[in-house]
Amino acid sequence: MDVQIVKSPNRQEWHRPSWDEYFLKLAMLTSERATCPRMHCGCVLVRENNILATGYNGSLPGAPHCYDVGCLVVNDHCVRTNHAEINAICQASRHGISLDGATAYVTNMCCTNCAKALVAAGIRRVVVFTNYHDSLAEQFFAEANIVLNRMPMPERIIHYDVGQYTSITPWKDDGCDCNHKEHT
Ligand SMILES: [Zn+2]
Ligand SMILES: [Zn+2]
Repeated sequence: MDVQIVKSPNRQEWHRPSWDEYFLKLAMLTSERATCPRMHCGCVLVRENNILATGYNGSLPGAPHCYDVGCLVVNDHCVRTNHAEINAICQASRHGISLDGATAYVTNMCCTNCAKALVAAGIRRVVVFTNYHDSLAEQFFAEANIVLNRMPMPERIIHYDVGQYTSITPWKDDGCDCNHKEHT
């Protein structure tokens, strides 16, 4: 048996994201599913580095999207969608998952209502990278002793350089063979 240690030729370029960076980046990816042009927001709920639920701002199940039929604006806020945090909490609820003690990674600082829902759901820590005007979130988090961490925005690049990895070969055909007309 031929056993050797083969050192990486690109050790210098290897940046491994911290858990916080990783989950914030996943929240950014989740936000790509948002359906309202006024805001794209993503939320990932995590406990012990395990993802419990994800959510993005979107219309109620089966209802039309803002992008298709227009925003439903009341007092300058679009009310057609549930916010990302609420949808993540609802997803956990549908699957019977407790959020007690979890951390919420959110692309945008929570609005007052989402902050209250996160507190009531048992979230203990919130990590964000942007601010939101007109929100009492900080006040409610402070009253509930919830840790609020503001982090730098993670880089908007997914590093998957398939040509660089020696053990895999890129798919030759660039078509998708899963037969989905539309991935809804
Ligand atoms: Zn909208
Ligand atoms: Zn909200």
